[in-house]
Amino acid sequence: MLSIYGDLHIHIGRAAGQAVKITASRQLELKSILYRDAPRKGLEMVGVVDAGTLPVSQELEVMLETGELQELRAGGFLARNGVLLIAACELESIEGVHWIIYLPGLENLREYQRFIRSRVHNMQLSTQRIRISSKELVNLSYILEGILCPAHAFTPHKGIYGSWTDSLKTAMGSDYRQLRVIELGLSADSDMAATIKETRAFAFLSNSDAHSADNIGREYNRFRLNNKNFQEFKYSLENIQGRRITANFGLDPRLGKYHRSYCLACSTISTEAPPVSQCHRCGSNRLVMGVYDRIAAIQDQEEPSHPAGRPPYYYRVPIKQLPGVGPKLYEKMLNYFENEITLMEGADQADIARIAGEKIAALIIKMRKGRLPIIPGGGGHYGKVQKNSD
Ligand SMILES: [Zn+2]
Ligand SMILES: [Zn+2]
Repeated sequence: MLSIYGDLHIHIGRAAGQAVKITASRQLELKSILYRDAPRKGLEMVGVVDAGTLPVSQELEVMLETGELQELRAGGFLARNGVLLIAACELESIEGVHWIIYLPGLENLREYQRFIRSRVHNMQLSTQRIRISSKELVNLSYILEGILCPAHAFTPHKGIYGSWTDSLKTAMGSDYRQLRVIELGLSADSDMAATIKETRAFAFLSNSDAHSADNIGREYNRFRLNNKNFQEFKYSLENIQGRRITANFGLDPRLGKYHRSYCLACSTISTEAPPVSQCHRCGSNRLVMGVYDRIAAIQDQEEPSHPAGRPPYYYRVPIKQLPGVGPKLYEKMLNYFENEITLMEGADQADIARIAGEKIAALIIKMRKGRLPIIPGGGGHYGKVQKNSD
């Protein structure tokens, strides 16, 4: 079986000469994600969530014509360098929450576009609000043979648990049973999610939600698959015959920009025991609820309970964000270790020290063990790795 790394939530800034995601970097283009960014990071599977926009699907078709991509019979698109593209669409339902539909092929993508054409303002742009309910989305995804996944499920910004409901079971009714997977988002990890009992039914994805090339792979998953294609990806979410997600890798939730509650009145990130829904400093209740606080408010058990086979969740910090790593050193390390994931997961401490010095080597080993000291984030401000951490 194959063991590969994948990041299933990446945005496109520009395609076919047009802006696609306004908040995303213009350098973020389909071709460069597949042929430059994914290999540099060490990803063999990437999910591009703006595939339903007209410019991106146009570009996809051109790449199929030129042979830069090949559509696979079992779903998915294979680039010549072996990177598997999973085409996906992130959208906002009428409840104001974000969902991703992963789709197997071009025909399903066209069907998706035909369906949403009359329900959306602008087919050029991504993550548009669509006049469709979350329950209807379950149906749509079924018809398209897709996989439906709530995006960044716990964030106050458009996450299903973060901004819509305490319980998907209640909100979705019987359609809840059709859901197989949720995306944890940058500010949550498996243990936090698993204090909500109903999440036992789901596989957890840890993805980057990258709006720039640098952020691709800031979270990723390791998959065990028989082959690289859409069908195998789907099997891995359902643990079918040995296919599975074998590990989640993500930011320490404290690094996430919505980890703790944040007071809009006095700009303070809370430090008190969760859930914090009123500012301890100025008393205001104009708060952006933190993911940690939100989960503490809706959890139905204090200790996480995981189903058998739930993979471990490892804390990672992108190498570039480690104190002391500048662009030059980063390039030097990539040249030596081939890609960032090899460096993070496999490289020997002595080898790293030879290229980057003892200090950086020690930091990377500390990170692997999840022992980096962190200053928590909140209210849209990322947390940080503490400098002088020894
Ligand atoms: Zn989103
Ligand atoms: Zn997104």
